Amino acid sequence: MSEEPIDYKTAWNSLRRLQRLCWMIPMVGFLLVVGIVPLINSRSIPALVGVVLILIVGVASFIALLKLIYWRCPRCGKYYFQVNEARRQTIPVIRIKACVHCNLLRP
Ligand SMILES: [Zn+2]
Repeated sequence: MSEEPIDYKTAWNSLRRLQRLCWMIPMVGFLLVVGIVPLINSRSIPALVGVVLILIVGVASFIALLKLIYWRCPRCGKYYFQVNEARRQTIPVIRIKACVHCNLLRP
């Protein structure tokens, strides 16, 4: 079995980074909520600051998830996780082991 081309390694690294972001951002958001609620209750900081921080985390999570769903296969260039681009059917990202178009396996 030959080694993968170097540009595939870069693509897989970007996919892994996106997957990490998709669970780390909500985790940071949870820790923010846990840490900020007592401060809001004690009136150390205004509630608006908490709301803005949570909105920022929510938007960042949404963007990371969209980038993951619309991540393109390094071999065929089509959406790695979508079966039908016209109907935008998406298979849950965790279950996909290979590109749905060209069967390029994830390492
Ligand atoms: Zn592909």
